[in-house]
Amino acid sequence: MLRIVPYPHPALRYESRPIATINDALRARVREMFDLMYAAKGIGLAANQVGLPLRFFILNLSADPGKPEEEVVFLNPEIVKRHASIEGEEGCLSFPGLYSQVQRARKVRVQAFNLEGQPIDIEAHDLFSRAIQHELDHLDGNLFIDRLTPDLRDKVETKVRTIESGFRKAQAAGEYPSDAEILRELGAIAATGAVPSVGEAS
Ligand code: ZN
Repeated sequence: MLRIVPYPHPALRYESRPIATINDALRARVREMFDLMYAAKGIGLAANQVGLPLRFFILNLSADPGKPEEEVVFLNPEIVKRHASIEGEEGCLSFPGLYSQVQRARKVRVQAFNLEGQPIDIEAHDLFSRAIQHELDHLDGNLFIDRLTPDLRDKVETKVRTIESGFRKAQAAGEYPSDAEILRELGAIAATGAVPSVGEAS
């Protein structure tokens, strides 16, 4: 079972590896990720937010499971061009209840592959552009709290610590393995470049 992991689960700081294989396990996990994302009322989710250290993320800007035509899957995405800069509000499913203003490129050109293995090459604006940059940051182990101005970072510090202590308590209660064990599991998955079949992953 996949679940969205909160900060500071080590998967969130893991630099994800490219996807080497599009297989049934990947398709199944993508479906599960959309379901988790809708349940959490999010518009985007990166693979490492569910403990998969692989370079892919999903988006549905409508956040509406009734609009599957707006679902987009980006495999091995790369931003090849950034234009201008704009501030806007962001949240993150790994930081429940935390929102802040973040500076991002206004427009990006992104190249990736879809689940059918076909190349994607799009120019994204506004919320679409912001969401792509946020999710792609995840794949590099970067988080939106890293991009806050010092003033704004101070403002959310208490909330960040609350989320952090929540994770550590859950870990102490055995809901998550130790950081060392998590890192070992992440390394094993990353080395294969593929999503483990159900039952293989812990
Ligand atoms: Zn996020």
